[in-house]
Amino acid sequence: MWLRECPFDDQGLVRPVLPLALMCDTCGSVWCTPADAAHEDRVTVPEAPDWTACGRSFAPGSTSWATREDVDKAGWGEHPWHEEAS
Ligand SMILES: [Zn+2]
Repeated sequence: MWLRECPFDDQGLVRPVLPLALMCDTCGSVWCTPADAAHEDRVTVPEAPDWTACGRSFAPGSTSWATREDVDKAGWGEHPWHEEAS
């Protein structure tokens, strides 16, 4: 599932990620909450060496895409998520 198209690249989709946040699947930009993701200027781009965003580490290989269950558990289920085209 994804929330919006990334404002910073041509192909990216902003998806829920664990640790819980939103991340572009193409450029790796991170927003802390769905509300933040509506604002380009609230973005963080995790960078070496600590890969920190939203007070947590988003090091490559340490994140995974969140599921609908994760999103609902976080209270984010009401946002206008797009389901994957199948
Ligand atoms: Zn992007």
